[in-house]
Amino acid sequence: EISVDGVCMVFGKKGKQVTVLQDISFDVAQNEFVSLLGPSGCGKSTLLRLMADLLQPSSGQIIIQKEHPREVRLRRKFGIVFQNPTLFEWRTVRENVELPLEVMGRSRAEYRSMVDQLLETVGLTKFKDYYPWQLSGGMQQRVAIARALSLDPPILFMDEPFSALDEFTKEKLQFELLEIKRKTNKTIVFVTHSIPEAVFLSNRIIVLSANPGRVHSVHHVDLGEDRTLQTRESKRFHT
Ligand code: ATP
Ligand code: MG
Repeated sequence: EISVDGVCMVFGKKGKQVTVLQDISFDVAQNEFVSLLGPSGCGKSTLLRLMADLLQPSSGQIIIQKEHPREVRLRRKFGIVFQNPTLFEWRTVRENVELPLEVMGRSRAEYRSMVDQLLETVGLTKFKDYYPWQLSGGMQQRVAIARALSLDPPILFMDEPFSALDEFTKEKLQFELLEIKRKTNKTIVFVTHSIPEAVFLSNRIIVLSANPGRVHSVHHVDLGEDRTLQTRESKRFHT
């Protein structure tokens, strides 16, 4: 479904160029949950931005559903959660989550209960009328997650979405994400620097090495039983 083919990314002007990503190639199949794992500065966010058409590669190409990422972005076929939440300060929590639906011309009556459900999922029901500046960093991140899910996109790009959250909320949302994945069959590309998180969530882990970022190794995760166990364990803390 997504193909990254020989992608290189060079930043800076002539004479002062820095190669951040070098010859990155991998595919993501439909319904896969792939983690991009690697140390700080190895180019994970850059790679995700390239996939989401927010940057253009210096060389190589990215194809999503047989098209340029631009086409896919314009049709809102992917949602993106940034490493630092970018909310609209003059809109409430609910209005932030509703924005993509508004832009797509959906009617409020049609999406109202769905948005309520999303706010419940990320644990922000009580805060739906708050403005971003009234929220903690972790709460803002949860708003960004709900907003990325609002159009129910078939593809999700997530850049360390849980790293600013406390352990309880993190576990709860990791569990919710797997549940959403199970219910909706989304394809998810998930950036993290946490090995346990990558192992817990993904079907496949692509490890990047730094300076410049390259694909270091690829791991298939087959933890069916263990994951069920872990899930059951974590559930105990949230009942
Ligand atoms: P972290 O885990 O800390 O978020 P990361 O793996 O996401 O790190 P990136 O944010 O992709 O890393 O950055 C990789 C490298 O690219 C860094 O050295 C950074 O300075 C450089 N870089 C990123 N964006 C730009 C830019 N627009 N111009 C110049 N250099 C950039
Ligand atoms: Mg990053």
